[in-house]
Amino acid sequence: MTVIRQEDFVQSIADALQYISYYHPPDFIQAMNQAYEKEQNPAAKDALAQILINSRLCAEGQRPVCQDTGIVTVFLKIGMAVVWETDSAISIADMVNEGVRLAYGHPDNILRASIVSDPIGQRINTQDNTPAVIHMELVPGATVTVDIAAKGGGSEAKAQLAMLNPSDNIVDWVLETVPKMGAGWCPPGILGIGVGGTAEKAMLLAKEACMESIDIQALITKGADNAAEALRLELYEKVNALGIGAQGLGGLTTVLDIKVKDYPTHAANKPVAIIPNCAATRHVHFSLDGEGPVSLEPPNVASWPKVTQRGAKDSRKVNLDCLTAEQVAQWKIGETLLLSGTLLTGRDAAHKKLVALFEQQLPLPAGLDFKNKLIYYVGPVAPVRDEVVGPAGPTTATRMDKFTDSMLQHSGLLGMIGKAERGPEGLAAIKKYRAVYLMAVGGAAYLVSKAIKSSRVVAFPELGMEAIHEFVVEDMPVTVAVDIHGESIHQQAPREWQRRIGNIPIVVK
Ligand code: SF4
Repeated sequence: MTVIRQEDFVQSIADALQYISYYHPPDFIQAMNQAYEKEQNPAAKDALAQILINSRLCAEGQRPVCQDTGIVTVFLKIGMAVVWETDSAISIADMVNEGVRLAYGHPDNILRASIVSDPIGQRINTQDNTPAVIHMELVPGATVTVDIAAKGGGSEAKAQLAMLNPSDNIVDWVLETVPKMGAGWCPPGILGIGVGGTAEKAMLLAKEACMESIDIQALITKGADNAAEALRLELYEKVNALGIGAQGLGGLTTVLDIKVKDYPTHAANKPVAIIPNCAATRHVHFSLDGEGPVSLEPPNVASWPKVTQRGAKDSRKVNLDCLTAEQVAQWKIGETLLLSGTLLTGRDAAHKKLVALFEQQLPLPAGLDFKNKLIYYVGPVAPVRDEVVGPAGPTTATRMDKFTDSMLQHSGLLGMIGKAERGPEGLAAIKKYRAVYLMAVGGAAYLVSKAIKSSRVVAFPELGMEAIHEFVVEDMPVTVAVDIHGESIHQQAPREWQRRIGNIPIVVK
């Protein structure tokens, strides 16, 4: 009989969440480095370099790989011979959530609380990132197996489900669906694909699949032994041939691996789900056998690849403190800028408040002036030690599209910084007001924060991480993604790279 003690289980959950907040899995780093080495598009290669540099800095500094520190998702397999030694009133879910609370409030590495309760109504931040999403299964045996992830909201937002007909082709559906997902899931990453069961079972299979280790090169070498493996190989080649590339900038690698899990299904159905895992792929797996809490071995960070970013000679230096519409009009899509000076921040909740003020013709809060400024879509992690701000990478820009016309009309902004593409509404507003949209690399949040030299809240402090901050930045690298004519790199580059890949003999090692 195995006895699992409450404090061991809670501590294991907390330690695992701290561990995955700053250590990428080594298989992920290896695959990302292979993508970096073979990439031929300079913009995509630079994005991959930033992700790898960020990963090393986070592992060394024990700080989060992304400002979005995720929604905790746990799969527990509980041996039927396990006995729990716990307080009488506590459930297993309560213990998981206690571990989440401990991890996200850790004073040496405080993690951003991103979970809101009352999701239909008030959407109030629960402050400690609870509750986790927990799946439990009773299995034979005397151990507790824990598969735990901290899943980013940007990649989770791109999850897809289709109830295909039995005669429909899964590959066709995936190739039609992935381009529509855009780059908000911060590719390259892993696509977890679940096939079979019922609608909810397919989604669960996809979630479990995207938490598996990367081993596509071994499968390529070995060859497929069954239909699921054959599907992985076909999709790995064809999804990469779409040319979406790192951050949607166009390039050779969109997926590092395709993982497939299947389950028997009804004769009338073929449910298929996709869940992407992003540049902040965070998961770890362990078992408890009654011998105390888990002890997770730190990876050998010295083995992280040493790569370099594009230097100043390839970039345009921009002084944000004397920016003009004339300067902005000269920027070309694909160009790298190094920004120095003052930026304002804002994301969903702040935009909602600002647009409400514009509609009611009310003044902005005292001290807030967007005239000739750029706004950075970000919700940073709180600082620790001597940091001026915690990891502060960009959030998905399309969520701000519906506010963009009003913001550009009323605020005096010259442009915006976010991650991934803009949608039709955002593009139309950018073109109408001759503004620009710049893209920072999603998943390089700690690296971005190194360019931020000071930070202060200037409006809406009640919004917490969503408050409007003023950042002073120095040489913050961004790519011009939409110019004043509304031309978008995310529309042009993948098309171009899809065409080029058609011509590149792809050698699969
Ligand atoms: S890497 Fe991108 S999708 Fe993933 S958590 Fe960070 S911002 Fe979100």
